[in-house]
Order: sequence, then C-alpha cells, then structure tokens
Amino acid sequence: MKEFLKIIVGIFTVQASRYFLLAGIPFLVFYIMFRKWFAKAKIQRKDAAKADFVREILHSLQSTLVLSIVGYIVFSPPLRGITHIYTDINKYGWWWIAGSTVLSLIIQDTYFYWMHRTLHHKALFKYTHLLHHKSTNPSPWTSYSFHFFEAWAQGAVLFIIALVLPIHVLAVTLFTMTSFIINVYGHLGYEIAPRWFRNSFLFRVTVSSTYHNLHHSKFNGNYGLYFRFWDRLMKTENPDYVTEYDKIQEARFGAKEVSLAG
Ligand SMILES: [Zn+2]
Ligand SMILES: [Zn+2]
Repeated sequence: MKEFLKIIVGIFTVQASRYFLLAGIPFLVFYIMFRKWFAKAKIQRKDAAKADFVREILHSLQSTLVLSIVGYIVFSPPLRGITHIYTDINKYGWWWIAGSTVLSLIIQDTYFYWMHRTLHHKALFKYTHLLHHKSTNPSPWTSYSFHFFEAWAQGAVLFIIALVLPIHVLAVTLFTMTSFIINVYGHLGYEIAPRWFRNSFLFRVTVSSTYHNLHHSKFNGNYGLYFRFWDRLMKTENPDYVTEYDKIQEARFGAKEVSLAG
C-alpha cells in the first residue's frame, strides 16, 4: 500500500506540474500579461469570475489524481497482461510511435463524442457533466475541470486504446500531452487560429476554440473533441458556428482580409 501511494504521488506530481505549466502559461499570457493585445481575439466579452478559476483548478487537481490512478492501473498487472503496452521501441519502429499517437487521438475523439452525449442525457447530466458546464465562459483552467465520475469516464479511454492498439510508453505520453494541449486551446477563451485556417481543409474537419466555446455558452451542440465529423454526421453541430467564428476573425484581421481569404 505504501508503495502504491508513493507511485501515485509521483505520477500526480508530474501531471499536476504539467497542468499548471500548460494551462498556467497561456493564462498568464492571455489573461494577465497581454490581455489588451489579445482583446480582439476574446471569444466572449465578459471575463469569468475569480471563483470560477478556483473551482476549475480544484476540480482539475481532483481529475489529475483520478487520471494518475487510471495511469497506474493501466500500466500495472493484471491489466498489463491484457493490454498492448510495450517498452521496446524497435518492436514496431519509430513510425509507429507517431502512428499510434495519431490513432489514439482518433479513437479518443469517437469515444469522447459518444461519452459526452451520454453525459448530456438528463438522467446523468446533473450528477456528472454539469460541473464542467458551470464554466460557461471557459479559461485554460477549465481543461480538466470535471466531476469525479466524469474524470473516470475521461480516463477510461486509455484502457480502450491500450486494449486495441500496441502502444509504446512514449506514445502514451505524447498522446496525453497532445490531448491536453488541444484541450487547453479548446478552453482558451481566445480564438488564436491563423487567418489561413478558415480556407483550409483543416477548418472543415477540425474544431476550433470558438467551436468548443459555443458548447460552453449554449450547452447543446458541438460535442466533438478534435474533429467535426461526428457532429456533422449526427447533425449536432451548432448552426451558428461558422458565423460566430468569422465574426471573431473579422474583428482580429479585418473584414476585408477575411473575405479576401474567403
Ligand atoms: Zn458538454
Ligand atoms: Zn469543455
């Protein structure tokens, strides 16, 4: 038991440091240091209250603890015997490190869409996902602000990935890191996508910060995590998304530039 606690404390310390670093730096840059500079990129005019930040940080730490326990369970016996986690890079080569990281994100996107919609069901919402939606105006601190039960549901994707994919420990780290960085962007509260993004293929397939921000301000629609695929297929995409996105980008780059860019 002492050994278990020692490992959990170790994983938690690394993960919590990562949270404070990867959510804290954008918070410092966008909400404190260069606030005025980025004013036009702000998605919602109003600011969230200090109490929101405190609630978000406390719940994010709770989620970090849950995710640390999930990580421990996935990497330990007896689960280690049924998952496909490996440690010898030569087994599948370096290309599979990149390949399995990308595939993990794709699996997580599908898992997240359906889990997210399930948690929006009225029988479950109040007891799980409502906590995340208390942040109607999200900030980087919102990234891991989940109810205790939702944190387990979020972490469960690691079991699924490790069950279906041979995945190296390094790819697990890259996957969780990439996932967290995109999550911080989704909750940033500022649209920082470059102008060219609007006319690219990427705009049609991936979500933006505005996309997830709309989910927080309107509660329904835009359930996707990285891609627009499931929302489009299931007709759950917010119909005002593109208009809202263009409005913010027009404020940032000027109407002429945006329309010239298409
Ligand atoms: Zn939601
Ligand atoms: Zn969110």
